[in-house]
Amino acid sequence: MIRFDILTLFPEMFDSVLNCSLTKRALESKVIAVALHNIRDFAAGRHRVTDDTPYGGGSGMVMKIEPVARALEALSPEKEGAIVILLSPQGEPFTQRVAEELSRYRRIILVCGHYEGIDERVLLHLIDRELSIGDYVLSGGELAVMVVVDAVSRLIPGYVGNSESVLIDSFTTGLLEGPHYTRPREYNGWKVPDILLSGHQKNIEAWRRRESLKRTLARRPDLLKNAGLSEEDRTILEELGAEKNNTDDSGA
Ligand code: SAM
Repeated sequence: MIRFDILTLFPEMFDSVLNCSLTKRALESKVIAVALHNIRDFAAGRHRVTDDTPYGGGSGMVMKIEPVARALEALSPEKEGAIVILLSPQGEPFTQRVAEELSRYRRIILVCGHYEGIDERVLLHLIDRELSIGDYVLSGGELAVMVVVDAVSRLIPGYVGNSESVLIDSFTTGLLEGPHYTRPREYNGWKVPDILLSGHQKNIEAWRRRESLKRTLARRPDLLKNAGLSEEDRTILEELGAEKNNTDDSGA
């Protein structure tokens, strides 16, 4: 079981995500646990203010350090060897490899920023890791936290019904996964590739590997250099490269 503690100003944003599909089932069967902590509950004063204007002037509001610090203190991450992560567009890119690393923790504390971001001293002194889910700017860290929770959770045994399917997912193998088909055999004249109906498992596996290499070469060639390719894979890639060159030449 892995436990996620989420520090947010908008806990209600998580309601729908936690209450459906695999996440709901995983929570019920205690494969994962999620605790939402409202940062506002840790703010001082009658008005429980969590943000303030930036020092030095400028637009927007900045989340104050004290409520976040108090919330983290209450969770005492160091006691249980938890990792504290801030979601930020300036963080290290969140990839499948990072999800795999995080899935080895028993407890992960995720802090959602909002407005212009959080007082820099949170990053400097209270956070172990800063993660970004992509090169774009969201209004808050909540959606990014949902992405991290989902990607990490599906690596925990028991989250996905068929745990083998996780092992062959895109990026886990180092490649993009090939295409999937299901019934009917034909729709609107569009047919399922014959090989998948052949019942010949060895040929099907070989076809799937080839499709996976083909797709990765076409869409994400950058993945190939760290994909741990076999000699056979390299031969297939050479053939695919040659095929592509021939097609390019004939179109020219
Ligand atoms: N002013 C900040 C900047 O330019 O870097 C952007 C702040 S953003 C509007 C507010 C919050 O949304 C951030 O503190 C962070 O928690 C979250 N956020 C926005 N984009 C994100 C991304 N790509 N990945 C992870 N978190 C993100």
